[in-house]
Amino acid sequence: MRLFSCPACNAIAFFSNMTCVCGAELMFDPVQHGFKVNVPACANRTEIRCNWAAEAEGAGFCRSCAMTKVIPDAFRGDNRMLWARADSHHSGS
Ligand SMILES: [Zn+2]
Ligand SMILES: [Zn+2]
Repeated sequence: MRLFSCPACNAIAFFSNMTCVCGAELMFDPVQHGFKVNVPACANRTEIRCNWAAEAEGAGFCRSCAMTKVIPDAFRGDNRMLWARADSHHSGS
């Protein structure tokens, strides 16, 4: 398991963490490969609990979400498979 740290308090943060124990909102930056605070969150943050940071050119989505056009209907029918595949970027496997 990969461990990261909160930029605000240096506490250990897990890859899937949305928030730190200190209350900071964590946004994962795939470029810097670490968490950030006070950066734009992915537009899917509340929709699917994506905790990545939005990309500047990504229309509000993070790098992973921007690569799939499947948005809120993702959990219905065949789209479920597409979404699962796209979400593999989040686990970093
Ligand atoms: Zn913290
Ligand atoms: Zn996202």
